Amino acid sequence: MNNPKTVFIIGGGVAGISAAVSAIKHGWKPVILERTGHLGGRVRSLYAKDVGSSIDNGQHVLSASYQETRQLLSEIGSHDRVTFQEPLFINFRISNRHDFQFQPWNLPAPLHFVLPLFLKAPLARSDRQFMRRWGLAFWRADPDSLKRLTVREWLEEYGEAPLLERLFWEPITLATLNTSIDEASAFLLYQVLINAFVGSRANTGLGLPNDLLDALFAEPAEKYITAAGGEIQANCVVKKIIWSGKEVQAVETRDGERIETPHLISAIPPNALMKLLSSSDNLDKELSLNLSRFTFSPIITINIWTENPVPGPFPIALIDSPIQWIFPMVEASQKAGLHGYTLVISAAFKESAMRNEAIINLANREFQHYFSKSLQSDFKLKDYKVIKEKTATFLQTPQSLRYRPGPGTAFNNFFLSGDWIDTDLPATIESAVFSGRMAVELLLAQ
Ligand SMILES: Cc1cc2nc3c(=O)[nH]c(=O)nc-3n(C[C@H](O)[C@H](O)[C@H](O)COP(=O)(O)OP(=O)(O)OC[C@H]3O[C@@H](n4cnc5c(N)ncnc54)[C@H](O)[C@@H]3O)c2cc1C
Repeated sequence: MNNPKTVFIIGGGVAGISAAVSAIKHGWKPVILERTGHLGGRVRSLYAKDVGSSIDNGQHVLSASYQETRQLLSEIGSHDRVTFQEPLFINFRISNRHDFQFQPWNLPAPLHFVLPLFLKAPLARSDRQFMRRWGLAFWRADPDSLKRLTVREWLEEYGEAPLLERLFWEPITLATLNTSIDEASAFLLYQVLINAFVGSRANTGLGLPNDLLDALFAEPAEKYITAAGGEIQANCVVKKIIWSGKEVQAVETRDGERIETPHLISAIPPNALMKLLSSSDNLDKELSLNLSRFTFSPIITINIWTENPVPGPFPIALIDSPIQWIFPMVEASQKAGLHGYTLVISAAFKESAMRNEAIINLANREFQHYFSKSLQSDFKLKDYKVIKEKTATFLQTPQSLRYRPGPGTAFNNFFLSGDWIDTDLPATIESAVFSGRMAVELLLAQ
């Protein structure tokens, strides 16, 4: 490896892809060492033989405010594989008969979303009083003071808002932080609200992939990186990092190969990095301690194919249901003559312990409860595939903010990236993309 401007990246998820693209843009050669046979990490597609269909490992929703991600997708040529709502639209299904369709109004931010919520949502007097108090305080909030609070503790400062909690706070916190409002960090939710609702009105829309996730990230990224002279070594499990003083020298793979790494970026999750560091001889004690503190939150995606269509419009947020969202599947996952949907359960601690059959029974029950009045007849489930991602994201509590490290380490040529590092963002695609760029920029600065 003669080119001194070569950077090795462990992990080919979104953070690794972002680091590679960023390195290329600065005239460097990236070499991605990826454990599996393909790029994408937690944003990937798979062929499910048992149902004979290509599906994603989980429904991924972007936000129009994901500036870093949108820039990356434009760079690798797949921005058109996401359809961004203009403006935001969410169909909140409150009960069998009752929907609340939320759409911002044509007003300057933040009135565009505050007013329709205030005037159109089915709220009680206490909810409206809460909104007034909370809304005024929000503009003056000191984000740093929110770092020690959970979302519940933050909201309690402004009184009670039982309907708003069910209709807005719980769904938005689960969807963006994969953590319940009792545990989730108020600071991270504040960041979500600021990015999506306070800037331009165009930032509020959701971005829904219109193709499989592989077509969005893995495939175009592989083409882009290899065409620019970068390398992707698939099925390459890094087992050990070899240090010399304050520098990383090389990595060792599961097959016993030693690869010299003049510059190294880790783009793997905290638990994988902890394993890697503990099998390496030179420990950064503070980093190891921080890594050991991360805990994780699961997401379950239930893919269903039905004979009769489920009535939209979509996306549907089910209020008070363990199933929080329903999305129509992308065309590539549909089956002839059937209607495909993905159902999402975030922070699915209880459901993760359930058998797939029990999860499907739960889905059936919820469909009967929320749709029996509007379905022409039974929706007739024809096929299903449940995917449990047990470590979908880290649990995003106020405590977790204290142990998210930055991209730098105690070693001069070793940098960190991944959705879990300290980006001030929740553990999302946007955080992963940003972290990859942060790691490369720190490398260049050094
Ligand atoms: C079901 C689900 C739904 C989600 N929904 C959303 C959503 O709607 N919106 C959103 O923004 N985010 C969502 N997320 C979060 C998003 O997927 C992650 O934030 C993002 O993919 C993290 O990317 P990453 O590169 O940091 O990590 P990863 O994707 O985990 O990438 C790490 C890579 O490193 C590789 N690796 C690990 N160990 C080694 C090793 N020793 N040697 C070599 N390679 C190694 C892995 O194989 C993997 O490819 C969701 C996640 C899940 C699981």
